[in-house]
Amino acid sequence: EITAKAIVYSSYGDPLDTIACHSYKLPSKPINGKEVLLQTLACPLNPSDINQIQGVYPSRPSLTKELGTIEPSAVCGNEGLFKVLATGSEVSELKAGDWVIPSNVNFGTWRSHALTTSENLTKLPNDGKLSIAEAATITVNPSSAYQMLTLYVDLKPGDWFIQNGGNSQVGRAAIQIGKTLGLKSISVVRDRPDLKELKEELTQLGATHVITEEENSSREFGKTIKQWTEGKPIKLGLNCIGGSNLTNMARKLGKDATLLTYGAMSLKPVSLPTSLFIFKNLTAKGFWVTENIKRIPGSRESTIKELIKLYESGDLAEIKHDEIEVSANEGTEEEFLAAFKKGLVESKKGKQLVVF
Ligand code: NDP
Repeated sequence: EITAKAIVYSSYGDPLDTIACHSYKLPSKPINGKEVLLQTLACPLNPSDINQIQGVYPSRPSLTKELGTIEPSAVCGNEGLFKVLATGSEVSELKAGDWVIPSNVNFGTWRSHALTTSENLTKLPNDGKLSIAEAATITVNPSSAYQMLTLYVDLKPGDWFIQNGGNSQVGRAAIQIGKTLGLKSISVVRDRPDLKELKEELTQLGATHVITEEENSSREFGKTIKQWTEGKPIKLGLNCIGGSNLTNMARKLGKDATLLTYGAMSLKPVSLPTSLFIFKNLTAKGFWVTENIKRIPGSRESTIKELIKLYESGDLAEIKHDEIEVSANEGTEEEFLAAFKKGLVESKKGKQLVVF
């Protein structure tokens, strides 16, 4: 028998007050022929995981007593990388040692082990070409960047896009993927003491230009942007911030441009000048990678395939993250919980990855 640990919640609220560690027993070998026993290798703490625990995210797992919790509960987390420990007699496509990720959201990835069936899993190569961090974070941030740049507007090499949240993990992926597609980009970032270093870092990744929110809001600076683009219309905008940052960014979009909103880090609404719709024929839409699994069948798999190629060729760098180590088999419930609570606190400073 294995003692598994999982981070669970039984009510919605502030994650630091709501999450708990629950231990439960799993067989050391699958009993049912279709089952696969997994050990977690790494799982990120994404903004949407936090929103799920807060109860403000439209897609969430149902609360059940499946793991033997006293209250109906759900396991936190949607993204993560697992190693196959053992397979049932009817599983032919996976073997011990393989790397897998959940095929769908709401899997509950903040846990040490899992017992599931093979149809819930997608195999990833573990021949050394993908790092654990790359594999554990492939489905949300880089997938979103890839889909936003390729599925909505027919962008050709030399075309421009603009984005805010340029230093977010989605933004960084968009910069790099954009470069491989031959696109030119303008990324809006928040001002900071080490702005020069951040600009250099993002330029190294492939950003054509990086501007601050102040520059983004300045009419005068608009002329500089027109010089950069040499009169070419900016065809696509990616928005994960909202508020005045977005309003000012949208003013830079060209005729017939598309604006995709995928996040709201400022917690402010999307407010767009009427003139952009009337005189520039702006199209403003939402983007949700989770919905695209259903809306564009096969998109998740084909996106992952393309991203693996980009990681293997070195065109896409591992997500910038901090690692928090925790043991899958040793340690107490308190230690397990403390690791995830640390991750929640630190996630305001950057992407946190819990590694096992
Ligand atoms: P990260 O934690 O990597 O980045 C968050 C970014 O937001 C940072 O760059 C930070 O700027 C910036 N930011 C935070 N608060 C503000 C603010 N008040 N004003 C301006 N900028 C701010 O996040 P992710 O890359 O994982 O996700 C980014 C967003 O995208 C989230 O809202 C997430 O929910 C969303 N998302 C949506 C998806 C979808 O399918 N719709 C899929 C993936 C992500 P700084 O660098 O200055 O700290």
